Amino acid sequence: MNKALFLDRDGVINERIVGGYVRTVEEFHLIEDILPVLQAAHAAGYRLVLITNQQGVGKGLMSRADLDALHRHLHDLLMDRLGFALDAVYDCTSLASDGDPRRKPEPGMLLEAIAELDLDPEQCWFLGDALTDAEAGRRAGVRTILLGEHPSTAADVVVQSLSDVLPLIQ
Ligand SMILES: [Mg+2]
Repeated sequence: MNKALFLDRDGVINERIVGGYVRTVEEFHLIEDILPVLQAAHAAGYRLVLITNQQGVGKGLMSRADLDALHRHLHDLLMDRLGFALDAVYDCTSLASDGDPRRKPEPGMLLEAIAELDLDPEQCWFLGDALTDAEAGRRAGVRTILLGEHPSTAADVVVQSLSDVLPLIQ
């Protein structure tokens, strides 16, 4: 079985737009501190798996093609900067009101990845910046890391900066 570092996107890999959606390559700003985390995880044998809610598509604010173009851009950027990219991308474009079992805090995307990539949940981490990330991770049986100002009980580990993630990824 394999292990994975699951990653939320907005607020972890790229700067999030508060109250809005990253819709274009121009609006996509990489968080530089994620690069050493990806490097360490890759070196330690973790699959790198993106788990992202993107209801901007469901709302009609951007298209499926826009989202795919953003993720191609992320792929090219990581290849350029690190020499490798994410192993898999799971997104959910449903609206919050749709009740989609794939949309975080539901664990559907994680469960899909666990099955498709033959992952051992107990060896995986989910790194996110929202309580819904920790909730989805917990429900999928993976260990959770929450970035930012959260109660210490909100996840297995709460960190203030991405550099705090490095010692966990061994
Ligand atoms: Mg986020």
